[in-house]
Amino acid sequence: MIINWPEKFARKGHELFLSGLPIALHCHHYNMNLQKTLESSLGSDGTLLLYQAAEESSYAGFTSFLQHHPKINTTKSKLELASTSYQYCGLGIINFTQIEPEGGRIVSPHSHHVTGWLAKFGKRETPGCFFSRGWIAGALAVIYDKHIGYYRVDELQCKMTLARECVFEVVIA
Ligand SMILES: [Zn+2]
Repeated sequence: MIINWPEKFARKGHELFLSGLPIALHCHHYNMNLQKTLESSLGSDGTLLLYQAAEESSYAGFTSFLQHHPKINTTKSKLELASTSYQYCGLGIINFTQIEPEGGRIVSPHSHHVTGWLAKFGKRETPGCFFSRGWIAGALAVIYDKHIGYYRVDELQCKMTLARECVFEVVIA
């Protein structure tokens, strides 16, 4: 099935919608400064806030998207949709080939957050893709018909620390 992405975006005045849900578009300056501010002021509570916000938004977005596309009804096609929408929204490239309902591993060779963080702040000492972790957790909960918070996604290695790629581990929380 081919999705006509430009058709899925709708503009009403200054508001932008993706498959019926209002969305916000921000450049890396906004997104990285938001992450830096949350992390430096609140520590792990701040990064958890990023994770949970991304999880909630991807859960709601994916639920809505699949309701509008009932023909996307196999796990494989839903995972492909997740990968495609991640890329189409400018978030990066993500590979869902090693994932099952019990969890697994997800690899991302390129991402908006990695490029943005390295450009603005340089190398990190610890993994920093909190948004991507939450986004994955929310999308997988929809794909495998679980409740939000069902999965916990950790990052085993991260390009922000100059690893070759970001590697995420998914387990049942
Ligand atoms: Zn990373």
